[in-house]
Amino acid sequence: MLRVAEQYSGSDTGRQRRANEDSLWVRAPLFVVADGMGGAQAGEVASRVAVEAFQAGLPDRGEPETELERLVQAANTRIHELSHANAEQAGMGTTLTAVYVGERDIAIAHVGDSRAYCLRDGELLRLTDDHSLVDELMRQGRLTPEEAVEHPQRSVITRALGPEHTVEVDTRSFRARDGDVFLLCSDGLTTMLDEDAIAALLHEQPDLRAAGEALIAAANHAGGRDNITVVLVR
Ligand code: CA
Repeated sequence: MLRVAEQYSGSDTGRQRRANEDSLWVRAPLFVVADGMGGAQAGEVASRVAVEAFQAGLPDRGEPETELERLVQAANTRIHELSHANAEQAGMGTTLTAVYVGERDIAIAHVGDSRAYCLRDGELLRLTDDHSLVDELMRQGRLTPEEAVEHPQRSVITRALGPEHTVEVDTRSFRARDGDVFLLCSDGLTTMLDEDAIAALLHEQPDLRAAGEALIAAANHAGGRDNITVVLVR
């Protein structure tokens, strides 16, 4: 039986943006990060609406991946409808990465380029694929990881909640072990820090609050070009 022993969540505007368009929702056993986009304040609206869809939690019965997907589709519908009802919110969208801690497995639902990781035995395992232009080009062998880091269109995502009336959702389950630490984050963390740096910081700081604050500080120190959201769960 899995139990959430410790958790941290934090979100920071960063050093270059004026507003924070990321949203998070944290109530064990459910953890959600969303990174909104769109003009005016539309990005903030999209990410907030996305995480609000999770506030009621998952039903006791039912298969977690299916239930997570159902909530993601409901969030997508809501954002899509709002974007058509208000000219200011036309075209808004958001990423969404949700983790549910079940009895033995972690269930994940994911759209966009926020990420979920597992830190196990000092090693950082990425549990989600980015739905981004550069990731697709890398999968096709047309771009190296080094080129992707500096690609001018590196922030272009190929899947989001909002633009279409349905969305393709990646779901998976992952067998958790005693002592695993799960990280959910927006791309404001992973575009500023590479995975080795993230793993090293998590390894150096066993306390999750200290680790989360150190990750946000390091992303800001590296430039803080985007909003930074970090959720850590042991
Ligand atoms: Ca972002």
